[in-house]
Amino acid sequence: MSTLQERLDWLEKCREFHGHLCMGQALGCRVGIKGMELIAPDGPKDHIVFVENDRCVADAVLVVSRTRVGRRSLKLRDYGRMAATFWNAKTNIAWRVRTAYDGPTVEGGEDALRELMKLPDEAMVLWQPVTIELPDWDMPGHPKRIVECSVCGEKVFDSKDIEGPDGPVCKACAHGAYYGAPGAGHA
Ligand SMILES: [Zn+2]
Ligand SMILES: [Zn+2]
Repeated sequence: MSTLQERLDWLEKCREFHGHLCMGQALGCRVGIKGMELIAPDGPKDHIVFVENDRCVADAVLVVSRTRVGRRSLKLRDYGRMAATFWNAKTNIAWRVRTAYDGPTVEGGEDALRELMKLPDEAMVLWQPVTIELPDWDMPGHPKRIVECSVCGEKVFDSKDIEGPDGPVCKACAHGAYYGAPGAGHA
């Protein structure tokens, strides 16, 4: 069980990283602390976290779980839900933790947000055991597969490509990109 001081210390780290103290930091902090407590990783590289939205909560989960997108230890599964799953890849134990706080939204007052660290886990989060299966190419470590898109010619890492008629195709060429490219741009 985390102590009040540990929770407050984490909340302060979240505030520093995120840029302000908000409801999302308070909630995400509690989600992160509970998740890490449940999977109890031995080392810093034993666990992977799946966060289910890209709002304030996600930053707090990142800070408390010490995971990073660029280390492949943090995966965004954007369901728009206030939840995250914590997976100890060594012991294969996984818990999904979601926010359960239904008290008044605390806006502005930082002291009021810190007060939320005093509430018991049950008042802030719900947790359930889950199972995780992550394909080998989604695990941390060196890329296991790099191909060249048969349409745009760009390199595609980690089996994120799709099989096309003339070889591998990147998702942008296969499904259309999120960006438009009206000009020739820079080479
Ligand atoms: Zn925020
Ligand atoms: Zn392409």
